[in-house]
Amino acid sequence: MLSGHPPMDPLAERAAPRVYLEDMGCQMNRMDSELVLGKLKKAGFERVPTPGGADVVLYYTCSVREHAEDKVYGRLGALKRLKKDRPDLVIGVMGCMAQNHKDAIFDRAPHVDLVVGTSRFEDVVPLLEEVRHGARVLAVDRKELSFDRDASVRPRKHQAFLTAMRGCNKFCTFCIVPFTQGRERSRPIEDLLAEARILVQDGVVELTILGQRIDTYGLDLRDGTTLAKLLSRLHSELPGLLRLSFITSHPNHMTEELAETIASHPRVSRYLHLPVQSGSDRILQAMNRGYSTDEYRRAVELLRSRVPDLALATDWIVGYPGETDEDFGASCRLLAEIGYQNSFVFKYSPREGTKAAALEDSVPRAVKEARNERLLTLQDEISASLRSRYRGQRVRVLVEGPSKRDASRLTGRTHTNLIVHFEGPDSLIGREALVLVEESTPLCLIGKREPEDSYSA
Ligand code: SF4
Repeated sequence: MLSGHPPMDPLAERAAPRVYLEDMGCQMNRMDSELVLGKLKKAGFERVPTPGGADVVLYYTCSVREHAEDKVYGRLGALKRLKKDRPDLVIGVMGCMAQNHKDAIFDRAPHVDLVVGTSRFEDVVPLLEEVRHGARVLAVDRKELSFDRDASVRPRKHQAFLTAMRGCNKFCTFCIVPFTQGRERSRPIEDLLAEARILVQDGVVELTILGQRIDTYGLDLRDGTTLAKLLSRLHSELPGLLRLSFITSHPNHMTEELAETIASHPRVSRYLHLPVQSGSDRILQAMNRGYSTDEYRRAVELLRSRVPDLALATDWIVGYPGETDEDFGASCRLLAEIGYQNSFVFKYSPREGTKAAALEDSVPRAVKEARNERLLTLQDEISASLRSRYRGQRVRVLVEGPSKRDASRLTGRTHTNLIVHFEGPDSLIGREALVLVEESTPLCLIGKREPEDSYSA
């Protein structure tokens, strides 16, 4: 607890205090913010869609990119006036940025009441209580998490995340995660199965297993637990799960056991996110990624030899310190060679506390922009070509809900994570449908529903 400001009591007058919570990062952040919402719901809070209607405003933040942090400070700046008009409004910053910046957030945004790091978010209710009694609260100490969860709190009825592990031991030079999340800690396999069972009973048909380096799941338990074993047990013990995926993979841990497990378990997704970051061996070494481009290629070959219909996605960083035109050219060539379905491209920005932050950020902003554009254009061309191959094919689509653009249509995803729009009854939501693809656009596939007995793929 830090020195106080005038006592506030946002919760006193209303039976159901209102919270606005925005999560601003990766899937792990989304999961953690769901855990926070579960705690708040249990304590009687009601979620509202705008900060203006809330008693408590919380941002669940990311620190991986400078842009993400700027966005949070932008949001906090916009709340200054509201806080001035309503001093009892409680404003909190949670997650990676809170862990990384700690009380510096109070210096830059003095109207913030609460800063909660990555190990303390489960204590959100008592921490709000401290704020309620007049304290400005900083909670960034390390504590073991319980993973206690309200299964009913999730954005979609049929989809859920399952956090299998936290932390990362890898220390890539550009990455803040090992500092904000700590060392790798895996949850026991039985705990995950128990949680997954509850989720499936509650209607979940699609489960995404989360970890910063998910392929290392179980290694720290030292009892033979692996990601492959977890997938296999979820697949066999929970037949109600129609799709099972995991994120994020690291190329160093693509084992024969894991590739075989994906291949032999048809409900495991045929879409894998395998970040490469650069196509230059020199840059990969400078990043401490732990593999060469040839080792990366071998991981892809292993996967494709066992799972020929697998679609791959990746991450790239452009403009890492010292990246030359030649290094960047190697990235372009590798992108075309692997033929990714998706690329997520990030312009390098130094993260305080990382090893790379000590290096000169030598690539000019305009060059980063141009490289970013070039990779995205290249990826768009490849993605369009991959999508066009689906025309005339029948695909099995897991239906997510009405299309956001056209409510008369449904939206779902193929087993390779392509978005498909088609007309059909709402009763298909949360189930699989067979769709004949008639059109491919830059963003999606469009088709018509087919009778089940015409399925041939
Ligand atoms: S593997 Fe590297 S990039 Fe991924 S979380 Fe760990 S340190 Fe960060």
